[in-house]
Amino acid sequence: MDHSTTDVLVLGSGIAGLSAALGAAREGASVTVATKATQPEGASTWWAQGGIAVARTAPRRFKEDIHTASSGTSDPEALDVLVQNADAAVRDVLIDTLEVDFDTGGDGASFDYGREAAHSEDRILHVDASTGKHIHEPFLNCLAAHDRVAIRGNTAAIDLLERDGAVHGALLKSGDEVRRLHAGATVLATGGIGALYGRSTNPAGATGDGIAMAHRAGATTTDMEFVQFHPTVCVADGDPFLVSEAVRGEGAVLRNAAGDRFMPAVHEDAELAPRDVVARAVEQEHKRTGRVVLDVSSFDFAETFPDLTAMCAEHGVDPSAGIPVVPAEHFLCGGVDVDTHGRASLDRLYAVGECARTGVHGANRLASTSLLEGLVWGLRAGTDATGTTVPSQPVSISTTGAGSPPPDEALRAAFERLQQAMDEHVGLRRTPDGLQQARHDIRSIGADVDAWMDPSARRGVHELRSACTGARLIAEAAAANETSVGCHYMERPDAPSAS
Ligand SMILES: Cc1cc2nc3c(=O)[nH]c(=O)nc-3n(C[C@H](O)[C@H](O)[C@H](O)COP(=O)(O)OP(=O)(O)OC[C@H]3O[C@@H](n4cnc5c(N)ncnc54)[C@H](O)[C@@H]3O)c2cc1C
Repeated sequence: MDHSTTDVLVLGSGIAGLSAALGAAREGASVTVATKATQPEGASTWWAQGGIAVARTAPRRFKEDIHTASSGTSDPEALDVLVQNADAAVRDVLIDTLEVDFDTGGDGASFDYGREAAHSEDRILHVDASTGKHIHEPFLNCLAAHDRVAIRGNTAAIDLLERDGAVHGALLKSGDEVRRLHAGATVLATGGIGALYGRSTNPAGATGDGIAMAHRAGATTTDMEFVQFHPTVCVADGDPFLVSEAVRGEGAVLRNAAGDRFMPAVHEDAELAPRDVVARAVEQEHKRTGRVVLDVSSFDFAETFPDLTAMCAEHGVDPSAGIPVVPAEHFLCGGVDVDTHGRASLDRLYAVGECARTGVHGANRLASTSLLEGLVWGLRAGTDATGTTVPSQPVSISTTGAGSPPPDEALRAAFERLQQAMDEHVGLRRTPDGLQQARHDIRSIGADVDAWMDPSARRGVHELRSACTGARLIAEAAAANETSVGCHYMERPDAPSAS
């Protein structure tokens, strides 16, 4: 395979990128997957716990649940695409092709469908509470063995090759080498933006690169203010790990430092209320009383969640004493604006998975729908992306700067300043003044980064540049939306409310 051109270039190797690669390869295209990950753990996909939702025999209820969780803001056309394709895509790729061994019930024959917050029925396929790695590893192995797919690890895309409103590949950086890879179509699948916040469930490389590259190339982004925080992240030893919603689905309850349950007074669904509601309540009780724990004493935690039990042991947490939890950044509902085939606003550019805004989640995401969205949109985009020709003339882009590289400490300090601005002002609760301050801080950090920029700059500089762009897009979108809805909560007494 000629590595300087490829029919379809996929950037990122989580579930969305791998599904796009599979979709394109099945159509006979040559596919290159360039990923900055050096190991599977570099993708959020690997870390997914609770599972992947399917429609089963009640697609209408599934749609209603997603729509309700989004506070009525999800896009009906996108919802139809997700729900109508869900079961077939899971059966085709995950069960028949990858042979993922989803948990079965007592009879060993039918699946053990789980339930999580805001789902009105049991519909989540899972493997214990570590579903992600059971999907991700066979998926990587399957594509590594595919004769039309080349996977290039430790390779970061740093810019898109855009000419006259069309994208023809990307500038890739592996170690010190920067090379152009031309493609008939380019699929962004670079995941989320967790690294913009001080506390996140995402891997450290979630710096929003795809969104930033698309924005620089002129593509539209939408819904960037809708950043979802997961309410139950354990930070016992400073290294956060997520405690899946499935644990609350099983009957765990939240208690404050006084041992009191507080969720029943906040929402009629108590601990199973939408994520944004639970996250804000946990944050408030944590501030008010100093501690919030998940009380798992109503069921056999070790037997039901052996993987989480092991994780607790690893982090020195005794679940029988309550698992200490706080909210942490978890998922971006917005991103690069795409249609029902993952097509972005620039020709030959696609975006899938967490870096894309399909409209499925609207202002808030229902648990266990992200893997599904990545799978469904990945397949559709990969299939659609085939059949375009690779440009015959090389595409040049102007790359900014001939800056001087910063010392490591300066780079680290700039990243911390950015996270501080996002934590303080663009988190679970926002105010107009806070957002203004954040935008000022982000601009000032961005100016430092511009002075450091140069294509040969080390990867961390490119990542901070992406993070600044993503942070700016989030803060600007938040400032432009005065209405509290879903994950976007404006703390102002006179703010209009959508609900
Ligand atoms: C702890 C945790 C638990 C979760 N549990 C669930 C769950 O149970 N169910 C569910 O539906 N969702 C869950 N989610 C959300 C879900 O896992 C993610 O939203 C989803 O996996 C995103 O898939 P993706 O392919 O878009 O991105 P990712 O899986 O994050 O993959 C992104 C890829 O892009 C690569 N990349 C990034 N930048 C570049 C670049 N510049 N150049 C090249 N490559 C790049 C990364 O290395 C990575 O390989 C969970 C998330 C976390 C973090």
